[in-house]
Amino acid sequence: MMRLVVVSNRVTMPERGEKVAAGGLAVALRSALEEHGGLWFGWSGATKAEPASSVEPIRHGKVTYAVTDLTEAERQSYYLGFANRALWPLMHYRLGLTEFTRTDYAGYLGVNRRFARLLIPLLKPDDIIWIHDYHLIPLAAELRRRGVTNRIGYFHHIPWPPAEVFGALPFSSTLISTMAAYDLIGMQTPNDVANLISGMVALCGAQREGNRVRAGQREAVVQAFPIGIDVEAFRKLAVASMRAATQPIRATTGPLGSRKLVIGVDRLDYSKGIVQRLEAFGTFLRNHPEHRGAVGLLQIAPPSRSDVPEYAELDRMSDEVAGRLNAALGEFDWTPIRVVKKAYSRSALAGLYRRAQVGLVTPMRDGMNLVAKEYVAAQNPEDPGVLILSRFAGAAQQLGEALIVNPFDTHEVAEAIRTALAMPKSERLRRFERLYATISSTDIEWWTSRYLAALSGLDIPSGDIVPPGQPKPLRSTRKSSGNAKPTRDNTLPHASRSAHSKFDPVPAKALPNAPSAG
Ligand code: UDP
Repeated sequence: MMRLVVVSNRVTMPERGEKVAAGGLAVALRSALEEHGGLWFGWSGATKAEPASSVEPIRHGKVTYAVTDLTEAERQSYYLGFANRALWPLMHYRLGLTEFTRTDYAGYLGVNRRFARLLIPLLKPDDIIWIHDYHLIPLAAELRRRGVTNRIGYFHHIPWPPAEVFGALPFSSTLISTMAAYDLIGMQTPNDVANLISGMVALCGAQREGNRVRAGQREAVVQAFPIGIDVEAFRKLAVASMRAATQPIRATTGPLGSRKLVIGVDRLDYSKGIVQRLEAFGTFLRNHPEHRGAVGLLQIAPPSRSDVPEYAELDRMSDEVAGRLNAALGEFDWTPIRVVKKAYSRSALAGLYRRAQVGLVTPMRDGMNLVAKEYVAAQNPEDPGVLILSRFAGAAQQLGEALIVNPFDTHEVAEAIRTALAMPKSERLRRFERLYATISSTDIEWWTSRYLAALSGLDIPSGDIVPPGQPKPLRSTRKSSGNAKPTRDNTLPHASRSAHSKFDPVPAKALPNAPSAG
């Protein structure tokens, strides 16, 4: 059996006592690694003055971990700089927040080069390599340049913007051209697939044929694989959490009494639309005063990336807006909005989702948004709540039975809250059943196995994404013929082993060169 090698920016090491969120991506990757007997490589999360020139793999059960430290300068340039201040806002369509410096870009390329150098001695000829997310875009090109011919896949967890947006990034042509060094590129939605392919055509002269894109001597297949959650585990957590009446549930439900609860759960990030959501809740209460005193919004917003200035500003803004609305609309015995800036366990969240009549998930732009799926998974099937979902979350392309809103339109979100609170049980049930069927048939196990089957050449994904409310059977694949021709309906051909063996490693000229720092 082929060994799986996972590469991600951060690696959670079990023996260091680092907690892996149960049911999260880390758990899914770890179980895929355990099944295949694999290696997980990436950054330890720590910094050191002089990181070692090789890594010492540590075996834990069936999985081997190999981590490297970064220097503080690398953390600043690669992680906080280029990944968080340039790529993150750019990928979320926020050109105005995108900050590019050559020093950061050079640091980003430098860390990717170092990852390649450190990883190569650990590789075996038959390994399949699965690289994760925007921190590591040029890693496959760096591996190819050093002669690695293994099958290499990439999954992009966040959105990919149109060429007009991505093209504003200096060195965007060289950076996007390195994507061709992958054999299979997984995106969250067909929209992201289309943006990446047209971006490669527009910015680096790539040629496309269906979902195959060729740049230089290499060719990649680009396919949507919407990520899922462990639905069953999350449902059980919600039931157990409600039964046990855990502290957060008691603290929330106690003062609420018979009041209804609207819940939002997001990292404190500008892509999540938290301030706009608070404003929309205020508009709802102003426009529908009969609901005052009868419903509250609980916004859980654990801080993230607080050393990036935009995040500190968002922290301040959300306090200010919540304070203003509470002062204007609250009563002595009722606070309309509570914003809690700390992280809760998944078990506590599951119970809170189940207690909430409305899940308010309104990011301005989001790769998938797992909270939307978790809210559905946690509902009581006999009396489910209503999901309000931004059309700009990747999840909206699957979860059409939610109330789909434009988060930029405060009035529309306010009206959706009213509609959700007034929705008859029969309609809630109808919507919930379809949503639940969709998230169950495309859960995290489906996502991992489908991606790995495609990457390892076992079978061909036969379609792009589950249309709203029309769940697909769990295994809708057909065997690879070995010919990766586009299908007539333009659904995804698979990057078969034979289709790839004829291409040479990516030529050195297609690789980005570190710009001079300045
Ligand atoms: N989460 C958590 N505790 C919190 C807030 C969030 O465990 O206090 C989890 C949440 O359950 C979800 C994840 O963080 O699994 C957030 O994923 P999502 O895709 O919604 O957003 P991201 O933060 O990845 O952009």
